[in-house]
Amino acid sequence: MRPLSPRRGPQLKLELAGPCVILRAVKLVLHWFRRDLRVTDNTALSEAARRGERVLPVFILEDALHTGPDVGAARLAFLLQSAEELRRDLARLGYPLIVHRGRSEIELPKLCAEMGATAVFCNQRYEPYAQARDARVFNALNAEGVGFEVFKDAVLWEEREILTQAGNPYTVFTPYAKAWRARAIPPPRPDLKAVGPPLNPAAGKAVPRDPADFGHPLSQTVPPAGAAAAHRALESFLAARVYGYATGRDFPAQAGTSRLSPHLRAGTIGIRTVLAGWLAARKQAGVDAAGRSGCDTYLNELIWREFYLQVLANFPHVMRGCFRPEYDALAWPGEEAHFTAWCEGRTGYPIVDAAMRCLNATGGMHNRLRMIVAMFLTKDLLISWQRGERYFMRQLVDGDLAANNGGWQWSAGTGTDAAPYFRIFNPVTQGEKFDPDGAFVRQWVPELATVAKDHIHAPWEAGLLSGARNYPPPIVNHAVQRERCLAMFKAVRAPG
Ligand SMILES: Cc1cc2nc3c(=O)[nH]c(=O)nc-3n(C[C@H](O)[C@H](O)[C@H](O)COP(=O)(O)OP(=O)(O)OC[C@H]3O[C@@H](n4cnc5c(N)ncnc54)[C@H](O)[C@@H]3O)c2cc1C
Repeated sequence: MRPLSPRRGPQLKLELAGPCVILRAVKLVLHWFRRDLRVTDNTALSEAARRGERVLPVFILEDALHTGPDVGAARLAFLLQSAEELRRDLARLGYPLIVHRGRSEIELPKLCAEMGATAVFCNQRYEPYAQARDARVFNALNAEGVGFEVFKDAVLWEEREILTQAGNPYTVFTPYAKAWRARAIPPPRPDLKAVGPPLNPAAGKAVPRDPADFGHPLSQTVPPAGAAAAHRALESFLAARVYGYATGRDFPAQAGTSRLSPHLRAGTIGIRTVLAGWLAARKQAGVDAAGRSGCDTYLNELIWREFYLQVLANFPHVMRGCFRPEYDALAWPGEEAHFTAWCEGRTGYPIVDAAMRCLNATGGMHNRLRMIVAMFLTKDLLISWQRGERYFMRQLVDGDLAANNGGWQWSAGTGTDAAPYFRIFNPVTQGEKFDPDGAFVRQWVPELATVAKDHIHAPWEAGLLSGARNYPPPIVNHAVQRERCLAMFKAVRAPG
C-alpha cells in the first residue's frame, strides 16, 4: 500500500490571516451568508455584530450554485427556500438582506466599495473548491484594502485541531471520536439582536425560490426548509426519538432519526445549538441505560460528520479517487444497463428499488438504505462508487461532498476505516432485518404491495413474479456477484 500523505502546507485560513487587512474595530462589516443561513448561533455573524458598528447581510447566488455536474434541484430548492426564510428573519430584526447574482470575487468588492464596508466576515467552508473561491475573494478584497475574516462555525473541531499524538490527522473513526468526546462542547453563539423596527419583508427583493429559474426544474417533494423548520425538527427529535435512537435509527419505515442533515448542510441550524439540545437530552436520560445509549449513539453520528469533513480537508485527493490509492486500479466491469436499473429502482431487489425510488421522489434516503444501495451498486453490480456518488449528489437534498464521499468510500471498501472490502451486504437479508414486515418496500414498490411479508424481500423465490405484477426478476445473482467482487478486489490489493 502506498503511504497516505495528508495535505501539507498552510491552510487557507492561515493564508488569509497573513497579509489580509484585519481590522480590530470596523465600521461597516459585510456578513457574507453561505452555508450558514440563520441568525442564531452563527459565529461570523455574531462577531460582525460585536465588532462592527453596522452589519450588512449579503447572500450571493453564485453561478456555481446552479452550474456544474453535481447540482441537484432538490438541494437547490432547499437552499433557495432557506435563503428566503433568512431574508424574512433578518427583516424582522431590521436588517435588509442584499441578494446579488454572479461571482463572489466580483460582487463582494463591488458591494464593499458602494456601501463603504471595510471588512467581509464569513464562516469557513471545507471543500477544496470553496476554499479556492475564498482565496480568490480574499485576493480581490485585499487589493481594495478590505479585510476578510473567516470563522470556524460548521464544526466544533477543524481538521488540524484533533490530531494523533504524532501530529497526524486521524484516519480511523473510533480513536478520532474518543479524542473528540474528550473535549468540552462550546455553547451556542449569541443570537443576532434587532437593529431597529422590523422591515416589511414584502418590500425587499425576495430570493427566487424556484430552482427551475436556474435551469433545474424540481420533481421531488423536499422537506420544509429554513431555520424554523430546523428548530422544529430538532425539538421533535429530542423530545422522544433520541432516547430510542440506538435501535430506532436502523429501520427505514420508522421515523427514528433526526432528519437534520439538510439543515446541517445549509446551516439553517448551528451545530452548537444541536449539541446544547443533545446535552440537555442526555441529562434528561438520567440513569435510563437505553435512553443514554440512544443519546450517545446520536452524538457518534454527529462526530462522523466532523470526521468526514476533516478527512476531506486533510486528504483532498478523496474528491478525485480512492482514499486508498491502490483501489484506483479497480476496473469496475459493471454494465451500463445495470446502472440505469439501479438509478430507476428496477433491479429486482425490493429493498434496493424501494430506496432508490424514495430517493428519486423525495431527495432523501435513510442511512441504512444508503449503505445497502451503495454496497449493491459497487459489490453486486460492480460499478464504480464514483458513479453512485455523483448520482446521489444530483438527487440528495442533503448532498454534501464530505459525508457523501465518506459514505460511498466506506461502502465500497476503498475509504478510511472502511468496512473491509470483503464485507458485502446481502440485500435480501438486509431487507428482512431492517424492514421486517416489508412496510417500506410496499410504500415505494406498489407492484409488491400485496406480497406477504415472508416473501417481500425475495418475491422470485416463491414464484411470485408473474407478468401481471410488472416487477422485474433480479438483474444479477447476489451469490455469483459476491465472488466476482471478492476476486476483483483481491486482484488489485497490495500484498501483505
Ligand atoms: C453512501 C452514503 C452517502 C451519504 N451521503 C450523505 C450526504 O450527502 N450528506 C449527509 O449529510 N450525509 C450523508 N450520508 C450519511 C447519512 O446517511 C445521513 O447523514 C443521514 O441519513 C441523514 O439523516 P438524519 O439527518 O436523519 O441523520 P441522523 O441519524 O439523525 O444523524 C444526525 C446527523 O449526523 C450526521 N450523520 C449521520 N450519519 C452520518 C454519516 N454516516 N456520515 C456523516 N454524517 C452523518 C448528519 O449530519 C445527520 O443529520 C451518507 C451515507 C452513506 C452510506
